[in-house]
Amino acid sequence: PIRVRYAPSPTGHLHIGNARTALFNYLFARHNNGTMVLRIEDTDTKRNIADGEKSQIENLHWLGIDWDEGPDKGGDFGPYRQSERKDIYERYIQELMDKGQAYESYKTEAELEADREAQKANHEMPHYVYEYEGMTEAEKQAKIAAAKAQGLQPVIRFHIPTDKTYEWNDIVKGDISIEGKTIGGDFVIMKRDGMPTYNFAVVVDDHLMEITHVLRGDDHIANTPKQIAIYEALGWEPPVFGHMTLIINGETGKKLSKRDESVLQFIEQYRELGYLPEAMFNFITLLGWSPKGEDEIFSKKDFIKLFDETRLSKSPARFDKKKLEWVNNQYIKKTDPNELTALASENLIESGRLPKDPDPKTLEWARQLISLYIPQMSYTGQITELSSIFFEAPKALDEAALKELADDNALPVIQNVATKLRALDTFSAYFINQAVYHTRLETGVKGRKLYMPIRIATTREMHGPQLAETIELMGREKVLANIDYVLQ
Ligand code: GLU
Repeated sequence: PIRVRYAPSPTGHLHIGNARTALFNYLFARHNNGTMVLRIEDTDTKRNIADGEKSQIENLHWLGIDWDEGPDKGGDFGPYRQSERKDIYERYIQELMDKGQAYESYKTEAELEADREAQKANHEMPHYVYEYEGMTEAEKQAKIAAAKAQGLQPVIRFHIPTDKTYEWNDIVKGDISIEGKTIGGDFVIMKRDGMPTYNFAVVVDDHLMEITHVLRGDDHIANTPKQIAIYEALGWEPPVFGHMTLIINGETGKKLSKRDESVLQFIEQYRELGYLPEAMFNFITLLGWSPKGEDEIFSKKDFIKLFDETRLSKSPARFDKKKLEWVNNQYIKKTDPNELTALASENLIESGRLPKDPDPKTLEWARQLISLYIPQMSYTGQITELSSIFFEAPKALDEAALKELADDNALPVIQNVATKLRALDTFSAYFINQAVYHTRLETGVKGRKLYMPIRIATTREMHGPQLAETIELMGREKVLANIDYVLQ
């Protein structure tokens, strides 16, 4: 049976890249009726953030990803937080030490730095220099005893065979082979604080949790030979590896890094802007994977059915903001208007356009306002900007608008419709449309030459949603004030 895991470090919120890793693991598991495990890799205690785990879980759930085993779910292979597995790691560290494949290392940071400097001067690749080189076992033990007497804390290093080549058949990249001598020498598997390092804990956990496939970002490729060496030292079979290509900023072509401020990169940020989870799921799944054919809109169920790990892309995935907006707009069009209204109302409250607890009348007005703009929205957070004419002091007319008003027909049309709007008993879209219709008959002006002056005079904008509905929602007072301004 297939078992995969998503193994976040709770050092930050859910990033697009991690969300994609989680998603592919999820789809792979569900497609194969396998098991999805959530494992929290929290051994880097200095970098963990307070709500890291909670925030990861919340955002994964929001995206529609769930799992079968994890710290919040339990399961037969727990605990699922690495910080709660210290005794397990210690057992295997001891085993490696007993076999002579790991040892206590007392080299200080200053000594390591001196090694690096010397290597740089010799144009050598940086590597750890074995500190017991040429010593007998007795000499080695004496050196260790002396360090202990000084009260020094050791790290544990893994003794990596450098004469070997580490090879695996990668689901995404095909055959990969890395020579042991390029790895940088014996590496740390347990830190001074007694916590295992990532490369060690991940092997122990993946083995004990019976993980069959490891799908992760290709920034981990350099770690894989180290992990394979540990599997070999412990006499275990490594899982199948698949390393997904990185995501690049579609505009700059550069690797999408957390420092790149031109793209929002955390799931939470999209959630706050009112993006729909189904749309995010859809968009992210197409970052580095595609089914056969040209279609771009798929439900979660479709994706589960279609997922095929052999179609993971070998070239970098382009993150294209415009495409994300387009995908979200596709979902907006199919989403229940009540749901969108709820989301967009929150956006309006968030931006201060609506009071925190709007009264029923205001809420109904907001509902109509939002439905007016739904067809134009890429995400509901745009409502704030789109509907600014309803909230902000009107702007002066720009050149293009003035040019429209300079047309011979403009003034008669505006004067005609103004009289009618002023006199309407019921200021509703239906009667406003009637008024415009009669203006058309009386002035003989139609089409754009009719609508553009009316739109500019009533809203002071050249573009906007359906005119009569907009006028109704703005209210008579505001509309007449706008007209007076234009006519003066
Ligand atoms: N905790 C690691 C990370 O967040 C997991 C890497 C792996 O999947 O092995 O990058």
